[in-house]
Amino acid sequence: MGRIRAQTIKFIVIHHSAANDAYSGAAALKAERQHRGEGYNFIVDDDQGPGNDGKYTAVQDAPDNEISNGVYGVNSQAWNICIDGNFEHQQPTADELHALVQVIATKARAWGWRKRDISRIVTHQYAGQYLSAERYGTACPGRNVISRMAEIRQRVAAYLPG
Ligand SMILES: [Zn+2]
Repeated sequence: MGRIRAQTIKFIVIHHSAANDAYSGAAALKAERQHRGEGYNFIVDDDQGPGNDGKYTAVQDAPDNEISNGVYGVNSQAWNICIDGNFEHQQPTADELHALVQVIATKARAWGWRKRDISRIVTHQYAGQYLSAERYGTACPGRNVISRMAEIRQRVAAYLPG
């Protein structure tokens, strides 16, 4: 795949794995992902611990400067992050949301994003419908993450300069 420069990253796109139990866990997801040829730059997972135990795994799946394969038609402008789970059916845990916010905030800061840039943090569903010329639909990253997007953006904004 091609390369992308930090200045070219216009969107941080959030996905879920929609994995069944056979593919739970970030490492297993990475292996499975390579099978399917789909791609994310980062995968976060709450380690399946009981409840919200504060533990999570954050795995760099592809280098940040490598164009991954998350949103057809938008990949050359996007950095893709995936939460392990199916959030159409399950709720994200506090650990998963924490991991997601921490990773996104760390990257956005490094790339010079400011508070006003949080609108560039989008769901795969939004990117497919409004950013891709293909105008395609997907449930990704699931309604229980989509409904938390305002909160996720605000939590990331707290780490960014004004
Ligand atoms: Zn997706």
